[in-house]
Amino acid sequence: MLSRKRSPIASERHLANRSVAIVGGGVAGMSAACALAEAGFKVHLIERRGYLGGRASSYLHPGVGEVVDNCQHVLFGCCTNLVGFYRRIGCFDKIHWTDEMIMIEPGGRRSRLGSTPFLPAPLHGLPRLLTAHAFTRQDKLSLARAFRAILKPIPGNTTETLAEWLIRHRQSKGAVDRFWRLVIASALNAEIEHIALPYAAKVIRELFMNSAYAGRMGINAVPLSELYQGVQPYLEQRRSAVHLNSNIESIQWDEQTSCWEMATRERSLSTDFLILALPFEAMQKLLPQMPPAEGSEELAVQIARHEHWPICSAHLWFDREITELDHAVLLDREIHWLFNRGKLQPWRNQKGSYIELEVSASRSFAALDRNAAIDLSLRELAEFFPAAASAKLVKAALVKEVRATFGVPPSVDNFRPDAKSAPWPNCFLAGDWTATGWPSTMESAARSGHLAAEALCASLGEQRRLLEPDLRPRGLMKLLASSY
Ligand SMILES: Cc1cc2nc3c(=O)[nH]c(=O)nc-3n(C[C@H](O)[C@H](O)[C@H](O)COP(=O)(O)OP(=O)(O)OC[C@H]3O[C@@H](n4cnc5c(N)ncnc54)[C@H](O)[C@@H]3O)c2cc1C
Repeated sequence: MLSRKRSPIASERHLANRSVAIVGGGVAGMSAACALAEAGFKVHLIERRGYLGGRASSYLHPGVGEVVDNCQHVLFGCCTNLVGFYRRIGCFDKIHWTDEMIMIEPGGRRSRLGSTPFLPAPLHGLPRLLTAHAFTRQDKLSLARAFRAILKPIPGNTTETLAEWLIRHRQSKGAVDRFWRLVIASALNAEIEHIALPYAAKVIRELFMNSAYAGRMGINAVPLSELYQGVQPYLEQRRSAVHLNSNIESIQWDEQTSCWEMATRERSLSTDFLILALPFEAMQKLLPQMPPAEGSEELAVQIARHEHWPICSAHLWFDREITELDHAVLLDREIHWLFNRGKLQPWRNQKGSYIELEVSASRSFAALDRNAAIDLSLRELAEFFPAAASAKLVKAALVKEVRATFGVPPSVDNFRPDAKSAPWPNCFLAGDWTATGWPSTMESAARSGHLAAEALCASLGEQRRLLEPDLRPRGLMKLLASSY
């Protein structure tokens, strides 16, 4: 039975001669790999699929013959570790940033949320909120009340859900349906009854209060997988390698050499260190194939407590433009977000338009078959953009990601192991579901990769700061945020 104590043999070698296998080529694995290669390790990044990116990737859709993202992925200014990873691999300039969030009601009336220059945080978003048609006077008063309340400290271990908190703070129906359910619940990809209050508070503070910079939204201007084109050369220039099409089914620990042993598609590998950067379901599958160790059962219990939430996207190609907007939040209907991909990605030279509609956390939408889901999307789209009713649909694809994200119900932090809690020697955990304090996002994945890399270095007595610092709150939030 192994214990997690570090193996002494590995620690006696010089840092530059040390090797690490990272299993999982999603954002978590890639960010750990690049940070460790830069620190001097020889890294083997091992991925089951034929491409990197995991859940945040794109592929050629066989039904429509177009490269599609497995869903639009947005980031925000506060995602410092994801931005740090993008800068490291040289793709930061492929992100399009916007300060505006455009809400549309059925019928087409628009409201523009966003920041007003020169007003200090958290007041920067107030003028646009106060003039938004989407909210009644009563909605605006209840939102103002909630924003004030969210400035107060919230105990990390509270079992209160967002839904319970909204009742306690007398939120109007409009505020709940059009703001909390739509904007906040879609950012956390769960229903408000299943969201732990501290996670909702985190989203509100980061996106709407801490600073205008933290809340600006980033949208990839190239397909997601193209963002990672720099990863392989980055690693190869640093004596490291990417191994694609390599599904790791079991991993052995060699007591004699104190090394981890596994087989990729092309060869067997033996490395000093191991980082498991897998989603929780893949970790659950691999666990019985890892060497027996004290603490494996506890990890299995933690993993079993997590649950998925789905995200679906309808990709629609029309023979003409149906809107000049590049994105919109769609109110009061099943579909939630519109992204005008043809406009956001002008290199596609799209004749007509390419629109992506997104439905978050909707288990009922995910249960629809392709035709029913596309028909519903088209019907609802025409309620917001009448031009969609007369445009000809050229082709369409439906992408269902049933296991898109993990949920953040109360007490979820008890089931998120940290990078150091792998029960084996010289082994670290990463992945968006591990203990990062962030919900299921690319930022959580990038953070987990940097935290695992940092923990690995620390295990060798190398105190490296690989985690990117958080953005500091600005304006009045410098004072107000000090209480939470
Ligand atoms: C539809 C959808 C929409 C989303 N929208 C957003 C968004 O707008 N903004 C945002 O920030 N986040 C969004 N997310 C969440 C985000 O994609 C994830 O949080 C993030 O990509 C997780 O990265 P990861 O590296 O932790 O895991 P993954 O991306 O799951 O990567 C794990 C990798 O491990 C590989 N793997 C699994 N098993 C093995 C094995 N045995 N051997 C080798 N390799 C293996 C997998 O193939 C995968 O590539 C969305 C997710 C989905 C699915």
